Amino acid sequence: MSEKTYEVRTYGCQMNVHDSERLSGLLEGAGYVRAPEGADGDADVVVFNTCAVRENADNKLYGNLGRLAPMKTKRPGMQIAVGGCLAQKDRDTIVKKAPWVDVVFGTHNIGKLPVLLERARVQEEAQVEIAESLEAFPSTLPTRRESAYAAWVSISVGCNNTCTFCIVPALRGKEKDRRTGDILAEIEALVSEGVSEITLLGQNVNAYGSDIGDREAFSKLLRACGKIEGLERVRFTSPHPRDFTDDVIAAMAETPNVMPQLHMPLQSGSDTVLKAMRRSYRQERFLGIIDKVRAAMPHAAISTDIIVGFPGETEEDFEQTMHTVREARFAQAFTFQYSKRPGTPAATMEDQIPKEVVQERYMRLVALQEEISWEENKKQVGRTVDVMVAEGEGRKDGATHRLSGRAPDNRLVHFTKPDEDVRPGDVVTVEITYAAPHHLLAEGPSKAVRRTRAGDAWEKRTAEPKQGAGVLLGLPKIGVPEPLPAVTGGCSVQ
Ligand code: SF4
Repeated sequence: MSEKTYEVRTYGCQMNVHDSERLSGLLEGAGYVRAPEGADGDADVVVFNTCAVRENADNKLYGNLGRLAPMKTKRPGMQIAVGGCLAQKDRDTIVKKAPWVDVVFGTHNIGKLPVLLERARVQEEAQVEIAESLEAFPSTLPTRRESAYAAWVSISVGCNNTCTFCIVPALRGKEKDRRTGDILAEIEALVSEGVSEITLLGQNVNAYGSDIGDREAFSKLLRACGKIEGLERVRFTSPHPRDFTDDVIAAMAETPNVMPQLHMPLQSGSDTVLKAMRRSYRQERFLGIIDKVRAAMPHAAISTDIIVGFPGETEEDFEQTMHTVREARFAQAFTFQYSKRPGTPAATMEDQIPKEVVQERYMRLVALQEEISWEENKKQVGRTVDVMVAEGEGRKDGATHRLSGRAPDNRLVHFTKPDEDVRPGDVVTVEITYAAPHHLLAEGPSKAVRRTRAGDAWEKRTAEPKQGAGVLLGLPKIGVPEPLPAVTGGCSVQ
């Protein structure tokens, strides 16, 4: 009997990307194999890991489910599962709207997927199971990591804030922190497999510790990462300005493998709008943090998220956002036009801004930030940087005889291919010769090439037959990780 195949479609944030690695790990643990790229619905099991942040998220999901209906009619054994934030919100509405869906599970019980699929198959009845609170920390579940040299490590789930435009707390619950020992054990296990870059993940990553009563737990965790042999790069996402304390800035500056890069959502520069958003900081504090970070790490690259057109935003308020952007000089900004999210306080606020006004302000903000990104990138010309070679970050690399990767500040660098063989995960030292708004070029010969254990891990994984690429990895026990099982199917560890 041929092996059953699966496909996981991921929407939304890094939390979902990481959860999808767990969903893949669970399915491979249950004997499924990943369907070939571009299967587009041909798989025996199709899983949607949904996002609920954008208004048209619903339309997108039901549109995709509609497209799968005729395929399911042709292949009755095929199963469709819907998980993630939209499932947590919509629950059995999904099977009412799309009765050909077999399983609906939530953000708190992703571990249940294989069991629910089996139950739906045996009972020939859709299974809707939503937990109100976290059943098991996702990190305890098997995982199939997308990258051999970089990994996500979740340190907390949920959020204690109540930003008025955000649905996350309602769908992912209150903040739950992982035990520091478990986090460090997972990182050590990853490094022992060749991973050299990790990103600490949390809805509100620097609030880590609020659940375990230690306000400095996050800075201590960063410093502890500094002691892990073989861990070259530590990043984290995403922090909240309110919890960005001096001990975190000091830990970043004093821990060599913590990268000089910070993504800190501003959302708005207007104190009036920040108050209406319930963001519990104001423009002055935000810019104060930026100044402190730059004083401690002059080369730090700072990026942000900004929402334009929040209900009640006046032209003066928007000008405050433009002023903050001019002052903060972000390397990059992810800018969004406000869109109502049913179920959030902001969705029912008065003074919803007309679309054309939002659009016009949005264009002004994008133009300003584009200019600043380019000016900040131009300051990199002439600098010598260590680039960690990345997989799939250079669309034109083939045609331009280049490779691509990330500098310590996470800037994207395309560089001339060295004569010697270089693999993703290796580190190449280059001099920046040209700056574009969203990437840098190093057109001269590379100054040094360092082949790393991460590069070895990438090579080993790439050499393994597609089926059975990597290993199924549960959460290692504290202390010496258990030996890795023989390569059977599925996944490994980004
Ligand atoms: S900090 Fe605010 S925007 Fe971020 S997840 Fe929590 S409630 Fe949402």
